[in-house]
Amino acid sequence: MEQLILQGMNVARLNFAHGTLQTHREDIRNIRAVAARTERSCLIMADLPGPKIRIGKLMNEPLLLEKGNEVVLTVQDSVGTADQIPVEYKRLPESVNPGSLIFLNDGFIQLQVEKVSGDKVFCRTVIGGPLLSYKGLNLPGVKIFADAVSDTDLEFVAFALQEGVDAFGVSFAESADDIRKVKAFAQKDGQSAYVVAKIERAEAIANFDEIITAADAIMIARGDLGVQIPIEDVPAVQKKLINKANLLGRPVITATQMLLSMTENIRPTRAEVSDVANAILDGTDAVMLSEETAIGRHPVEAVEMLGKIATSAERERKAVKILADLPAYFRTGAGSGSVRVEDVFSLNAVECANALDVRYILAHTQSKGTACFISRFKPDCWILSFGGDAKTNNLPALSYGVYPVSIEDKTNVFSDMAIRFLMKAGMVEKNEKMILIEDGSHDAMPETLLMKIFKV
Ligand code: PEP
Repeated sequence: MEQLILQGMNVARLNFAHGTLQTHREDIRNIRAVAARTERSCLIMADLPGPKIRIGKLMNEPLLLEKGNEVVLTVQDSVGTADQIPVEYKRLPESVNPGSLIFLNDGFIQLQVEKVSGDKVFCRTVIGGPLLSYKGLNLPGVKIFADAVSDTDLEFVAFALQEGVDAFGVSFAESADDIRKVKAFAQKDGQSAYVVAKIERAEAIANFDEIITAADAIMIARGDLGVQIPIEDVPAVQKKLINKANLLGRPVITATQMLLSMTENIRPTRAEVSDVANAILDGTDAVMLSEETAIGRHPVEAVEMLGKIATSAERERKAVKILADLPAYFRTGAGSGSVRVEDVFSLNAVECANALDVRYILAHTQSKGTACFISRFKPDCWILSFGGDAKTNNLPALSYGVYPVSIEDKTNVFSDMAIRFLMKAGMVEKNEKMILIEDGSHDAMPETLLMKIFKV
């Protein structure tokens, strides 16, 4: 864990579809302890399983499914063998018919239903391959009789809030109501939930505008998405969603199979490296690993490789495109329909930062999420987000180029506190120019944002 964090992991996703509350509690405490010891920030995201259908435990794994062989899926609780594989979704037999296609393990394995009888579904393997316990099962185009956020998911939310988790992933979000359900549940408890909407089904693309408005961030969850919609449509969808999220100033995570071959191999394929770099060049805020770090043989090398690709891609990126798009976006009313103060303000802050070639924009967390709004323009400098409360201050770290600095503001003067921090860390030179953003509201002037350009 220490090596992952030192190599640049700044968000840890705990997939609540796996593990137990006890293992998650241990992981959370371990991550917090290592982050504190290494003086790094690492946001923790609890990913709620939602209505994802999974197979059960297999006796021997990997279980090799061979093309042309018969496979029986059963909804009875049992341990899987070559003859019969358990599936957790009790309504599977009524959801499929002879001829239906069933996808396992993000579509790597495909089965075709031949017969349904009682609690068993008899299939023929169309595309074979090795299968591990608890892998996902997809039924594209089939209505799943389950809420995106179940009672079990809410129990996980209660547990994770108690453990001080920073963010929640809502799997298979279908509409804004799914996001609001998690937020309302936390609010009832006097807490607030930062929600990442996982876009992984056709309905989420159709309802994307309302989902992203209700959510704090989005994840393009390409594993399930690539089975729920035609796999060849995923790249264009990904580009459109990244662009929209950038325009609205919502952080966006691109996820799944980014460096998949590194689960086994020490080096990624050229195509994987291109995939990561292109997501970054398109404007993704975060790139995510799954099995590469969860069960892979080279987790540290995989994170290190992501860092290297990001460093190279970021060097080449120009912020030009989105800077050009934004005014047009508001003129046509395609966005919120009106220009928001945060939009104009953050756009100007980035133009100043790039023109003056500063190394840092210092943003106070009280400045109403400005760090996040600035980040979408991908400035050439770091955005240091200062705040006293490590919990809320960690969140902007999901946005590109934002580094959270959690320290108490004893002086009450933000610029003094920030400069003292930079000097102590040896991060600033005399006469260096920088930009500072803070909340300038007071009784006579509510809702005021201030930008200062100053020389140290
Ligand atoms: C995905 O499907 O791409 C994804 C991130 O979801 P999970 O890993 O939780 O199945």
